[in-house]
Amino acid sequence: MESKSILVIGAGAVGSAFLESSQGIFKKVGIFDGDIISKSNLITQPFYQGCDFSSPVSKVAFSVNKLNSLNSGTEYKGYERYFTEKDFETMKEYDLIADFTDNVNSRKIINAGCVKYGKAAVFVSLNEKEASLFFYKGSACFNCLFRNSIGHVKEGCESIVSAPENEFISFLKENIIEFALNKIEGGRIVLFNLSNKRVLSSMLKKDMECEVCVRHTMKKFEDGFLQVCSSGIKFSYGKKLNLKELSSMLSGGRLYGEYLIFNENNRSILVSSDGDFLFTGYTREEAGKLITVLVSQDPEKKE
Ligand SMILES: [Zn+2]
Repeated sequence: MESKSILVIGAGAVGSAFLESSQGIFKKVGIFDGDIISKSNLITQPFYQGCDFSSPVSKVAFSVNKLNSLNSGTEYKGYERYFTEKDFETMKEYDLIADFTDNVNSRKIINAGCVKYGKAAVFVSLNEKEASLFFYKGSACFNCLFRNSIGHVKEGCESIVSAPENEFISFLKENIIEFALNKIEGGRIVLFNLSNKRVLSSMLKKDMECEVCVRHTMKKFEDGFLQVCSSGIKFSYGKKLNLKELSSMLSGGRLYGEYLIFNENNRSILVSSDGDFLFTGYTREEAGKLITVLVSQDPEKKE
C-alpha cells in the first residue's frame, strides 16, 4: 500500500474526513477542491478546525499544510480548483481516483476521464441514512449506474447536517484500501446503512447503451473490423471467446456447442467460440456497440 497514490476530488464532509484518516497509508495523496473554508463548514467538516478566518483560506491549502506538517510518510499535493476536463492529465499521475464531490456534473466529468484513461475509481455518495460506494475498474462505469438508478446515488456527498461518523469513515477507508489492493472488483456497488450498519453489496453490469462506455471503447472497431456482407454484419475478434461468459451478458442467448445464438424480433446474433460474430437485422453502429460491450467486459481476456 505504501507505494500507491490516490487523487481525492472534493474535500468536503466526507473528503476531509477521509483525508484525515489517510495519513501513512498512501505514498502520495492529491487533493482537488476550489472551495474556501467558511465558519459554517466546521459543523460537518471538523477537519478544518483551527482555520484562521482573518483572511480567506482554501480547503486545499489548509489540508496540504496540515497533513504535510504531520510527517506521516504520505506526501500531500494540492490543486486549488474544481476538477474539469483540463485536469484529465493530472489523473494519470495517480493509481486511484476517489470522487467525493457533491454534484452529478462533476461526477460525470470524473467518470468520463476514468473511462477514457482506464483509471480505477471509487465514487462515494452520502446522505443522512445511507452511504454508497461504487467501484470502477474497466467495468460498468458511474454513468451506467447513474442512468439506471434512482435516489441519492445520483447525488454526491451532500445534504448532511453532521460530520460523518467514525464508523463510516473506517468502513470507507477499509473498502478503498481493499480496492487499491485489487480485493474488490470493478462494477461493485456497496451500500452502508448508517443506522443499523448493515452492508448490501451487488455487481453492476455494463449498460450496453451507456454513451460513456460506448464512446471510449468504440474506436477499436472503427477501422474496418466490421464487415457488412449479404447475410448481415460480420466481425472477427481474432481470439477465442468464452461463450458461457458471453451468454450471461446476452440475456436470451442460447449455447449450441461451439456457438452462441441470440434471436429476438427478426434480429439475430451468432457468435462462435473462435471469435466470429454475425449480426442479422442490426445496423453497423448497433453491432459495434454490442461487440464493444461484449468483448470489453473482461479486459484481461483481450491479451
Ligand atoms: Zn458506462
